Amino acid sequence: MKVIEHLQRARETLLSYEIIPPRRGGNIEDIFALVEQLLPFDPPFIDVTSHAAQVEYEELPDGTWRRRVIRKRPGTIGLCAAIQNRYNIDTVPHLLCRGFTREETEDALIELHYLGIHNVMALRGDDPGFRKTITDGRSCNEYAVDLVRQIVNMNRGRYLEPDLLDAAPTDFCIGVAGYPEKHFEAPNMERDLRHLKAKVDAGAHYIVTQMFFDNRKYFDFVARCRALGIEVPIIPGIKVLSKKTQLQSIPSRFHVEIPEELAAEIEAAPPEHVLDVGVEWAIRQCVELMEQRVPCIHFYIMQDASAVIRVIEGLRKLA
Ligand code: FAD
Repeated sequence: MKVIEHLQRARETLLSYEIIPPRRGGNIEDIFALVEQLLPFDPPFIDVTSHAAQVEYEELPDGTWRRRVIRKRPGTIGLCAAIQNRYNIDTVPHLLCRGFTREETEDALIELHYLGIHNVMALRGDDPGFRKTITDGRSCNEYAVDLVRQIVNMNRGRYLEPDLLDAAPTDFCIGVAGYPEKHFEAPNMERDLRHLKAKVDAGAHYIVTQMFFDNRKYFDFVARCRALGIEVPIIPGIKVLSKKTQLQSIPSRFHVEIPEELAAEIEAAPPEHVLDVGVEWAIRQCVELMEQRVPCIHFYIMQDASAVIRVIEGLRKLA
């Protein structure tokens, strides 16, 4: 089923999850074990992130450096298919502009269509540190809106080769990213929101937000989106803090603020109690979001579900 159908049918706030493929050479059994931890909480859909190849520099014995382009976390499509077939849970593969040609993206979409995966999250991706050489008339999507347009075209039976006869239309439900605290490259919030609206106008069906730790930011963001005529569901993204080092790493990596009250509580907590603080904070956020009847809460789990499971169990006790 499509994400948008899950949201339309839900009688109460859904809880969805985002996981990351293992590093190259990792074991799929670890992913199955992670998904099995989530089964008692009836996930309506699970997102699997995508990662472009990156450049790494390795120092050689003679003191020179070797540049290597490596794809550390392949397997998004395979994981989605495996999870969907094994557990009958809908999956949402993330697709990126950066690091992929439009031709590769079209092939990936055809694979997904054949596999019966009808949800995708369309993202630009961050700078992977290198540019793919584009030759022979190939091309890249620059912004997420361009990727949305490519997917919508395929949903209309329009593939990259213009004269394909009897091209079968695909049927993808498309999610896009939104930033309650503004995307870090956008010069201001208004311009960022206009770019978000362009993604929705191009055919995106729903938005998932970047993580935030202050619900005011989400509520303000939704109000501004609605004022601009963005009417699709806006799913809040929640991350549970578990380590003191995240007070620096999360703001610098994701360009979001950690409220002073939460930062002070984490700083004051002994290391073994930081997770308790993060869980309590996330429960408070979720309770308020549910009271405001958000359609779904999307948890950024990545590789470890234990913190999110504590949050859900806490929510169940309060219900
Ligand atoms: P865009 O919507 O293209 O926006 C990027 C920037 O360009 C913004 O500042 C926007 O305002 C601006 N912009 C947009 N259109 C135009 C235009 N026409 N002209 C000028 N400026 C424009 N990254 C990964 O690598 N893998 C993942 O799996 C992944 N999953 C994510 C899931 C979620 C829910 C979120 C919120 C983020 C995720 N990311 C992921 C991170 C994401 O790729 C980065 O935040 C990236 O920098 C922006 O992606 P976007 O799709 O929002 O880009």
